[in-house]
Amino acid sequence: MENKLSRRNWMKSSAALTAAAAATGPMALAQSPKNIVISSANGLQASKKAMETLRSGTDTLDAVIAGVNIVELDPNDHSVGYGGLPNEEGVVELDASVMHGPSRRCGSVAGITGCKTPSKIAQLVMTETDHIMLVGGGAAKFAREMGFKEEDLLVEDSRVAWLVWKRSMRDRAGHTNWSGELEAGPKTARMQEAFPNVDKKTLAWAMDVAVHPPTGTINCLALNSKGEMSGVTTTSGMAWKIAGRVGDSPIIGAGLYVDQDVGAAGSTGRGEENIRIAGAHTIVENMRHGMTPKEAGLDALKRVSRNFRDDKAWLSAIDIQFYALRKDGMYAGVSLWNVDASQARRRPFFAVTDGGDSRHEPCVTLYDR
Ligand code: ASP
Repeated sequence: MENKLSRRNWMKSSAALTAAAAATGPMALAQSPKNIVISSANGLQASKKAMETLRSGTDTLDAVIAGVNIVELDPNDHSVGYGGLPNEEGVVELDASVMHGPSRRCGSVAGITGCKTPSKIAQLVMTETDHIMLVGGGAAKFAREMGFKEEDLLVEDSRVAWLVWKRSMRDRAGHTNWSGELEAGPKTARMQEAFPNVDKKTLAWAMDVAVHPPTGTINCLALNSKGEMSGVTTTSGMAWKIAGRVGDSPIIGAGLYVDQDVGAAGSTGRGEENIRIAGAHTIVENMRHGMTPKEAGLDALKRVSRNFRDDKAWLSAIDIQFYALRKDGMYAGVSLWNVDASQARRRPFFAVTDGGDSRHEPCVTLYDR
């Protein structure tokens, strides 16, 4: 009975998509779902791991979480989990959300401290409670209760970058509380003096991220050959944020949304702008009404642009990307800009794994810088 029902639903949605394709132009619909994982650009390894996990018959949500755990546990990735850049007080606060298509359930944590893998805690909120979102101290306490011991997430490079950021702060009169900062001489030399034990490469990176506070996140979406879908988004959020700032990543409907009947979407980049348009939900709804993942993502970017009166100069301060995977396996990554604000970092690519190795594919971009 259940099979018949779900088959009927699938046929209904396929028919709707086919009708939409006829209206909007050719759309290649796969005959049957296949294993496929897509992720933000930093997820090459994560999507490979998720695919291996899917292939072993594991549930789609466990698969994407296993994938992003690699990045969460990597001390050299300064935008997610352990090693993430801290808030303005030097504390690493993490956000994460998960959504499980087959059960239509979700969970999230925001501003959680002391836990390297917030995606796992978000999953436990989903499976062990009748709540959806836990924040701050409550989320951390819940993690302890679930058996996760408290850990220090601030790695040495991130601590140095935070101190360099503090030293780069000035009041309106140009004053800083840090001695020597108003002395003459090249800034790099002064910083080298202030941090004699830090190597040149780390210091150059720290000075760069102090001036261009980086964001960074991993979003990972999966579809299996049974047509089941899940997604996860996890991040340390915006570097140097005000303590307690929550971005889009843990907001169901903004940083992540999955509808088992339609598809999944997620986001990286300027969370505030995504929250204002409920990006992931917007994209899934767009796909429900017949748009391809690419069209659905570009429409979300246009809504972000509209909030800036389509003023490119105003928009140039932000970056945002969306990832969309439709239930039939069609996917896309879209980015507001072709090059990020620093003109150097984060070329707009996203990771795809549908067969063998993971690969990068270019995001479709709305604007060129
Ligand atoms: N979206 C994340 C946030 O705003 C950051 C990022 O993806 O770069 O917290």
